[in-house]
Amino acid sequence: MNLLRLYYLIYFKKIKPFDLSKFILKKIENLLFKNYFINIDYNYIKKQCLYSEKLLLKNKNNLLTGIPTTYKDIFSTKNIPTTAGSRILKNYNIFYNATFLNKLNNLGVINIGKNNMDEFCVGSNTFNFYFGKVENPLNKNFTIGGSSGGSVYLVSKNIIPFSIGSDTGGSVRQPATLNNVIGFKPTYGLISRYGLLAYSSSMDTVGIFSKNILNISIVLNAITGFDVKDPTTFNLIKEDYTRYLNKNWLLNRINSKKLTGLNVGVSKKIFNNIYNFSIRSNIEDILLNFEFLGAKIIFINILFFDFVTTIYNIISSSELYSNISKYNNKFLFDKTYYFLYKKTFFNSLSINTKNKFFIGNYLISSDKNKKFFFLSKKIRILIIENFKKIFTFCDIIILPTISYNNLKFLNLNLNKNLDKYTSVSNLTGLPSISIPSKILYYKNFKFFQGFQIIGNYFSEAKLIQIIYEYEKNFFKCF
Ligand code: GLN
Repeated sequence: MNLLRLYYLIYFKKIKPFDLSKFILKKIENLLFKNYFINIDYNYIKKQCLYSEKLLLKNKNNLLTGIPTTYKDIFSTKNIPTTAGSRILKNYNIFYNATFLNKLNNLGVINIGKNNMDEFCVGSNTFNFYFGKVENPLNKNFTIGGSSGGSVYLVSKNIIPFSIGSDTGGSVRQPATLNNVIGFKPTYGLISRYGLLAYSSSMDTVGIFSKNILNISIVLNAITGFDVKDPTTFNLIKEDYTRYLNKNWLLNRINSKKLTGLNVGVSKKIFNNIYNFSIRSNIEDILLNFEFLGAKIIFINILFFDFVTTIYNIISSSELYSNISKYNNKFLFDKTYYFLYKKTFFNSLSINTKNKFFIGNYLISSDKNKKFFFLSKKIRILIIENFKKIFTFCDIIILPTISYNNLKFLNLNLNKNLDKYTSVSNLTGLPSISIPSKILYYKNFKFFQGFQIIGNYFSEAKLIQIIYEYEKNFFKCF
C-alpha cells in the first residue's frame, strides 16, 4: 500500500482516520485466531484516531497523520501490556513508550495492535509456543519467517503501508524476503533503542517492513535521530532520506544511466559456496540487472565469513543471558505462580530461548569468558575493520538473504546456519536492506526470493536511492 496515496485520501477528506482503522480492524477480525496479534487495544485506537482527526482539523497534519500501523510486541507501550512473546511477561505493563513510538504517536500514527513474535526475539519462524504459531498465509505448512513474523503479514497483504519489527540477526530481513516485502535494518544507533526489550544489546535495531522504499524513507524521516535516553544513538545532522530519489548516482551526470559510477562489491568465495541453484541464479540475475543500470561489479574478500554465524551465536547468547535473567525476579515475588505450577523462570521459557539462555550462561561463566566471548569480540573488531576497508572502494555489497527456499523451512530452528548472510550486518552495525526479486512457482506453491544490499555506516539515503531506482526498473510495487 502506498503511503502517499493514503495521505492524499486522508488529506482531502475522502476517508477519515477513524473509518480507515475500522476498515482494517474488520479485515483482521476473522484473522485473530491466526495469532498475528498478541494485543489489540480498541480504546487506544479510538484515542489515537481522535487525536489525528484533531491534527487534521487544525491543519497540523503531516504525511503520517492517520496512517495505521502495527508493532512487534517487543516495544514497550504505556497502555498496552508488552510481552516480548513470552509467558512470564504476559501481563507486563511498562510505564513508558519506546522513543520511536512516541515520535510516531505525536505525528498521529495509529497503532492497530502489537504483533506476535518469537519469544524474546530468539528464533526464525514465529512458532510461539504460548501465544500460538503464526502460519505462512500462502501455505500453512511453511513458516512466515521470524522473529518479527506477525508484523509482516498485514504489510504483505497490502492492508497497511508499513509496520515495525526488530532486527538482531535478520529478524526483519528474513520474513520480509519470505513474504515479498522490503525489510529495512538501519545502521546501529540511527534509531533509538529506548523501549526495545533487549535481546542482544550490541546488535538490536528497530527495523521497518514495507512494500515500497518511499514509505520507508518517510517513516525514517520521522523516527531517526539522537535520543538522550539511548547513549548508543548518534548526534548527527537531521537528514532527509528522500533527497536522492530520482537523481543520478553521480549527481553531476545527467544523461547517463541512473546508477553509473556505483561500485557493487560481490564476494566470489561466498558466491561460489551457494549450492542451491535457484538462489545462485537469482543472485546472478540481480548482478546483471545492476550492470544494466550502469553499476560496476567489483570482487571483494569478506574475511572470517565462515565464522560469522558462530561469532554471532556466541555474542547473542551471552548478551541474551545477561539481558533476560533479570526477569527471574518476577518469580521471587510471584509466589502463587511458583507454588501452583511449580514453574521457575527457566522452565517457563520455550526450548529455543532455553537453549540460548543455557549456552549464554556457560559462555560467560568465569573461565570460559576469555576463551569464547572475548575472542569473538576481538574477531568482531577485525570483521568491522575489514568492512571499513571494503567500503573505501565499494558503495554497496550484495548478498543473498537466506540460504534456503521456503520448502526447507520446516526444520528451521535446527539449522544454525540460517542467519549466515543476515547476521554480518548486525555484527558490524552496517545498514542492510532486503529486497524482493523473484517469484518461483513450484506445483501449487509460490515462493519468494530476495537479496540484500549492505551499505556503509549511515548511508541509508544512498541505499534508498539505489533501491528506488532498482524498484522502478525491475519490479513494481506489488
Ligand atoms: N534467528 C536469529 C536468532 O535467533 C535472529 C533473531 C533476531 O534477529 N531477532 O538469534
